[in-house]
Amino acid sequence: MSVLDLARPEIRAMQPYSSARMEASGGQILLNANESPWSSNGDDLGCNRYPDPQPAALIDALAALYGVQRDQLLVGRGSDEAIDLLVRAFCRAGEDAILIQPPTFGMYAVCAHIQNAAVIEVALAADFTLDVDAVLAAVTPAVTPAVRLVFICSPNNPTGQTVPRAAVERLVQALAGRAVLVVDEAYVEFAEAGSVADLIGQYDNLAILRTLSKAWALAGVRVGTLLAHADVIALLRRIMPPYPLPLPCVAAALAALSAPSVAAEHIALIDEQRGVMRAALAQVAGVREVLPSQANFLAVRFDDAGAVYQRLLAAGIVVRDVRRYPNLADALRITIGTPAENARVLAILQGGAA
Ligand SMILES: *Cc1c(COP(=O)(O)O)cnc(C)c1O
Repeated sequence: MSVLDLARPEIRAMQPYSSARMEASGGQILLNANESPWSSNGDDLGCNRYPDPQPAALIDALAALYGVQRDQLLVGRGSDEAIDLLVRAFCRAGEDAILIQPPTFGMYAVCAHIQNAAVIEVALAADFTLDVDAVLAAVTPAVTPAVRLVFICSPNNPTGQTVPRAAVERLVQALAGRAVLVVDEAYVEFAEAGSVADLIGQYDNLAILRTLSKAWALAGVRVGTLLAHADVIALLRRIMPPYPLPLPCVAAALAALSAPSVAAEHIALIDEQRGVMRAALAQVAGVREVLPSQANFLAVRFDDAGAVYQRLLAAGIVVRDVRRYPNLADALRITIGTPAENARVLAILQGGAA
């Protein structure tokens, strides 16, 4: 059985859009795409031309960075786009489902709702670890709606825990022929355990989401990557918009990737500051618990999270109110900033019991 047997048959059968850039590349005089022959004012990137759908230089750089083959990788507008493409390709509207483990990142459920796929929830344990048996029990074959995609987020947003590699392997093996396991590694650069991207070659039902938005300081550039079996990548390319990556964004991504030591320094500083903040916050009056985190944020429980949120806001500091998430009714999520910004947060919180 191929992983493609899990995909929507009409997506496998459809004739994809064929753009001018795909049909013919090269040539000196380009009169095939109804572009302007002139660059616009101030444009030194050649933005009068449509961009390469999957720019070769960026594909090469990301394949090297993530340790996969070029055909095992799809670059899109943030990992958000990859989540959407996965749901569209694998979930039949009104019939299939995704499985998530709350509290977790909101986009999985949003993309499922847009596609009219059901969302099956298997809550994380009280300590926010993943219950592999409970997940597998919820992915029962021949039951409607059929779970096609199982999302796990490691490190998890908004709680910060990672899923052990052994659990990922158990899941992906048990789900073979039943569902695709999607591991969202948006924050993995900040984690000690590291990526499971090296497993891509072993399992055709494994997909991994990576992004330049967090550790690479490029949230505004919107470059995210899906790593998966070449068949899955080829399938998603059929339904991807024709020109997803704007030329200035590709240029910005390549510039950042050419100076990896800058990102590495910042990652090390964030990891160090996360430890400093965790220890300091635990001493603050009104703090109940600082959850252990392997990401660039801390989830913090307070006696009165609402009051703390307002006090920080009054001081010009915006944190994320995560009280609507299950098991986090007393928590705020605080991103690790510069050392000066973090010191300011502590100063406000130490200024009096909340
Ligand atoms: C921030 C984040 C992303 C990144 O999304 P982009 O679209 O790549 O910016 C993906 N997953 C999780 C869990 C996140 O927190």
